[in-house]
Amino acid sequence: MIPVPVLTFHALAETSHVTAFPPDGFERMVGRWATEGRRPIGIDALLRRLKGEEPVENGDWMATFDDGYASFTAAHEACRRAGGRAVLFLSTSVLGRDPIFPRDGRCPKQPALDVETVATLARDGCDVLSHGDAHVDWRNLSDHEIDADLRRSSEIIADLTGIAPRAFAYPFGLSDGRVRARIAAFHEAAFGTRLGFVRTSDDRHDLPRIDAHYVRRLSSCGTLDDPEVRRRLRWRGWMRGIRETLFPTRVD
Ligand SMILES: [Zn+2]
Repeated sequence: MIPVPVLTFHALAETSHVTAFPPDGFERMVGRWATEGRRPIGIDALLRRLKGEEPVENGDWMATFDDGYASFTAAHEACRRAGGRAVLFLSTSVLGRDPIFPRDGRCPKQPALDVETVATLARDGCDVLSHGDAHVDWRNLSDHEIDADLRRSSEIIADLTGIAPRAFAYPFGLSDGRVRARIAAFHEAAFGTRLGFVRTSDDRHDLPRIDAHYVRRLSSCGTLDDPEVRRRLRWRGWMRGIRETLFPTRVD
């Protein structure tokens, strides 16, 4: 299987925060890649490729957006214009909030999506998947609390979209074996923040992603299969592994 890059975005916003990506840059990047035959695929296509039911096409990539920032609507439009789809990992507890994270003064000051917009986006072809209900470090929750949260978030998303979420993204990218086992009982796949391309050999409930913060320069030129970009990502992943061992951090 050709490795598939799955990019992690949060908000499209003109700030330098790690969770912000420039809106114009996103649109340019998606449009440019589409002219080169690189279209963002959805979760169904990725799972079919992971199961070997469908070959990976050169140029496959995935645009995932965590949390539920209102700017996801613009990302969805850009991906749709490019002939692909955007993937939302929705933290259901933020629905309708303004700002999305009132107690975090650093993240982009945007409202969250509301229930009507999420329902419209799903009808319009975007994938609405689960980022849980409570946006917390799930390693601190009991098995009972995890199961209750998963049931709640899945029910809310199924009510809004008509489809139970097939995949999950760990809040802050944090998980352990116990959390992954609980997730596996509810979802076919789950993503963390381990830096890398998705391969069939990966643990289906600990799939890697590439934080868009690391590939900001791709908004103006280059692609993810450029050997120089891959070399830099490998180096970043290696450095991040060392840093997180020494100084554990959390990414939304
Ligand atoms: Zn998050």
